[in-house]
Amino acid sequence: MTTVRAYIGLGANVGDARKTLTAAVHALAALPGAALVGVSRLYVTAPVEVADQPDFHNAVVALDVPAGRGGTATGASAAGAEASRSAPTGPIALLLALKSIERAFGRQDRFRYGPRELDLDLLLFGEERVLVERPEEGRSPDPAKATRLLEVPHPDAGRRLFVLAPLSDLAPDLIPPGWSESVEQARARRESIEGASAVRPIARWDSGSGAWV
Ligand code: ADP
Ligand code: MG
Repeated sequence: MTTVRAYIGLGANVGDARKTLTAAVHALAALPGAALVGVSRLYVTAPVEVADQPDFHNAVVALDVPAGRGGTATGASAAGAEASRSAPTGPIALLLALKSIERAFGRQDRFRYGPRELDLDLLLFGEERVLVERPEEGRSPDPAKATRLLEVPHPDAGRRLFVLAPLSDLAPDLIPPGWSESVEQARARRESIEGASAVRPIARWDSGSGAWV
């Protein structure tokens, strides 16, 4: 089966964020057909946009997932029949799985950039660029809410140190589609703007115990 390497950004600042993010890593690893490839260090980060809220915990996970149906190399009808019996694949299916994990961890709808129990963002899906508008009737009257159901690479990834620092732990030399620099170059650039103290690594992932230590 063809797989795609996806990078997922995790964030939380309500409740026991470290415990939530640890459990979220295990929930991601348990998605159908998924294989956990790497987990970044755990960071404590100052909130952006809305400053008056608790610090966040952030991390990034690398996950190999089955490629979308259009992305399989074989394209044979037997492979197609096989795919239709299994779980849906591709970037939108992954986004929906992320949203359902967020809900399972008790995420409440609040204002944009506000406090959250768990935020899971699809940062990268292999080399794919994806842009899916939300259907008109599904849009919130709140103009601050994203009108895009899915945009990959995540549009904020390149300008957020709390994403770039953990992503650089896993894939420093990667140049995401549409970017003109590597993840590590973007991280260093943002660090010079935001200051090194904006994101603070506090623990590394220990795959033996399945936790940050
Ligand atoms: P934030 O932008 O702060 O992460 P939300 O988690 O509330 O805010 O996301 C708002 C909407 O952004 C989601 O409902 C989702 O449909 C949309 N979205 C667009 N692209 C992505 C992506 N790459 N990853 C996650 N959500 C995305
Ligand atoms: Mg989100």
